[in-house]
This record gives sequence, structure tokens and C-alpha cells, in this order.
Amino acid sequence: MNKTASSFIAKSTIKAADLTHRGKINFNIGKYNAVVPQGKQQFTNVMAAREMAKNIKHKAIENLDTYLELFEKNITARGAKVIWAETGKQALDAIGKICKEKNCKTLVKSKSMVTEEIHLNQFLEDNGIESVETDLGEYIQQLDGETPYHIVTPAMHKSKEDVARLFAEKLGVPGGLSPEELTQVARKNLRAKYVEAEVGVTGANFILADIGGISVTENEGNGRLSCGIPKTHIVVVGIEKVLPSINDLALFLPLLSTFGTGQKITVYNTIISGPRQANETDGPEDMYVILLDNGRTNLLANPTSREALYCIRCGACLNACPVYKNIGGHAYETTYSGPIGSVITPYLSGMDEYKHLSNASSLCGNCTEVCPVRINLHELLLDNRHEAVKQGSSSLIERISWKVWKTASLNRSMMNMSNGSIKNKVVNTIFKGWTKHRGSLDFSKKTFNEMWKERN
Ligand code: SF4
Repeated sequence: MNKTASSFIAKSTIKAADLTHRGKINFNIGKYNAVVPQGKQQFTNVMAAREMAKNIKHKAIENLDTYLELFEKNITARGAKVIWAETGKQALDAIGKICKEKNCKTLVKSKSMVTEEIHLNQFLEDNGIESVETDLGEYIQQLDGETPYHIVTPAMHKSKEDVARLFAEKLGVPGGLSPEELTQVARKNLRAKYVEAEVGVTGANFILADIGGISVTENEGNGRLSCGIPKTHIVVVGIEKVLPSINDLALFLPLLSTFGTGQKITVYNTIISGPRQANETDGPEDMYVILLDNGRTNLLANPTSREALYCIRCGACLNACPVYKNIGGHAYETTYSGPIGSVITPYLSGMDEYKHLSNASSLCGNCTEVCPVRINLHELLLDNRHEAVKQGSSSLIERISWKVWKTASLNRSMMNMSNGSIKNKVVNTIFKGWTKHRGSLDFSKKTFNEMWKERN
């Protein structure tokens, strides 16, 4: 077993037994589960809306090159600069170069999982630039020195008491503040940073090819302040976020908000199609859009797993996953956790190192059931297992065991060779890992063949 797999097992074993952790997660996911059905009521036919969204994403991903080039042409015409980054390092180098040119000392950043993926904060810190997270959940996580726990709600594992304690310890405010008071503290600290920052960084929820714009969705207004106040705006976005047309937002914005947080529509939805124009009074002087691949074309190259690129990062599959609800987001030690993380991480960061994530699933299919763009997540998890074997990532002992099992199962005389108690002994001794957390397998005393003969 490789290091990442054993670390995952060690961390998830501890978390699965942590009842306080489970209580907090169940409380927060419970609140989510209570509001999602209300959000869904805005759709006359929610299944038809999901199918339509899937078809649009299918069209976008099948024609990815065309739409990305169209986006580049249109946004460049209004003065933005587009940078194509094949790897995370190329994206970081580009950001470092821009920050140097702009003499950037402070940078404000709105919530963006793709910047987590390339470890932007660490890079900026190493280069002497202060990077300030402006989304409240991300701000809390940054104060605590932790990565996001969940792709939509980064501090989901913390109670309001935990946050009050953290603010008292890190910011010197009185302990026991209410959520409203804590928000005011964060607001006051962050307002000064927007004005101070030379550069603002955002992600993008969608790339709009036909108008050459990006769409940013958020609930706090921090995204608008991060891209509107600093003189330079950098967008970092995965290439899969493309939609053919601005008109598609009429479907995707309500879908994202309903499946993400249960809202009918997220509070702030912003479309940005370039830096400040000659006839405009505010906005950044420069805008850069970094289109990041970083392994996404590995998914694109696989006709089955390509479907995972339809993901709109709503987080619904995490909230629905029995594994995620028990082990939490940090046990995965990946940027993207839960079912979608387990599907895409082996392609983004290496099949050998992350194939174990596809085994951390009961294959119950609940993730597929809740996905707004109807990605066949549980089948893709199964496909990853298959892919790992095809790529030679399975161990010799695993391959031999399955070969023996297959040969025996397909051979009636071999199946009849031993009785139930011998089978119990052999299987429960060989599959020690299985019986560590479960009861022993108990084979029937008689073989199927014997029972069949008796019956007839
Ligand atoms: S895979 Fe589906 S449910 Fe999971 S985050 Fe992506 S869009 Fe949401």
C-alpha cells in the first residue's frame, strides 16, 4: 500500500470514530437537507432541467477547444489577457510574474477551489506576498491554518463555538461572540484589505464562450470587492467550466444554488467581460484569465470518465455520501473530496497515488442520484478501479487473488471441492482486511450444487 493510501486509511479510521465530528457534520448537512427540497420547487420539472444541463455540458465538453478559443477571442477584444496554463506550475509562474510587474504586496482572494488545487497561498507566501482569503468560510480556515473541508462550505466541520474560540485566539477579540458579531469582525478586517490590495484573484463558476465573459457566484459580495477594487484582476479557472452561451446561465445559476445550498438563486451573480472600459468609471485596469488544464485533459482523453468534467462543483454529492459523512473532508488529503474528488483526483494527481479513493465507496449510487448534471458518479468510481488495473496500478497479490477467485467461481467442480467450513477458513484467513471491521464471511454448509440436486 502506498503512503497516500495508508495515510487516508489512518485518518479516516480516526475520524469515523469521532462522534463529536460526526455530530457537527450531521447537524450542518441536516440543515442543508432541509432546504434543498424547497429550492427544487422552483423547477417545473427538476429531472428535465438536470437532463438539459447534462446535455449542455456534453456539448460544451465535446467542443471544448472551439468554445475556449471563442471565449479567448471575445474577451481579448475587450482588453483582457488570456493565459493558457498546462500545469499548476505554469499558472503560478504567470501569477508570480503579474504580481512582480504590479509590485504586489497584498492580494485579496475570493473563494476558489482551483487556487487551492495549485496551492496559490503557499506560493504567494513564499514570494513575500500577503494573500487574504475574503470568503468568510475560507477566512476562518486560513486563520486556523487549515485547507477547505468542503468544496462549497469550507468550514463545515466547525461549530459557531469553535469559530468564536478561533477568533478570540487569533484576532484577540472577546471570546463567545455570536455569529453576527464574528461576521462583523471579519468584515471590518477585510474591508481594509480590499483597499490595500494591488491584485484581486477570483475563480469562475462558468466561462461564457459567446460573450467572452466569466460568471462568479457568491453569497457575501466579497467576490465583487476582490475583482472590482484592486487595479488588477486575475481569474484562475479550470478549462472545463465552459458554457456555450450566457443564456445557459438561466438554467445553471438556479441549479447550482439549489443543489449547492438550497437557495433559489445565490445572492451575488456577477458577469465580468473584461477590465474597465474607456467609458466606465470603476473596475480593474487590467484583467488576466488563466485557463488551467492541470490534468483535465487526462479526463477528456478518456471517453467514459470525460463526463466528470460536467461537474459544476455544487457539493451535493459530498453531502449525500455516507463515506464523506463519516470520515469528513480532510481525511481525503486532496483538494476535491467526496465522490467527485475520488473520481477526478486520480486523473489530476496520479492514478497510482490516488486509486485507493475509488475503493472508499459503498457504490450505493446516492451521489449519482443527487448530482444536478446527472454525472454517473458511482459508475465512474467503478471505472476508476478498472482503469487502475488496466494501467498496472494493482498489486501482484491482488491480481493473483482475483484470478484464483474467478477461476474457482467459474468452475463447478472446484466450487464443490470443499465444504462451507473449509471455505470459511480459507476466505476469512486470506481476506483479513475485510474481517478487521466486519463480521466473518459465513458460507453455506452445502454447495449450491448439492442443494440444487437435493431439491430436484
Ligand atoms: S459531481 Fe455533481 S453533485 Fe458532485 S459536486 Fe459536481 S455537480 Fe455537484
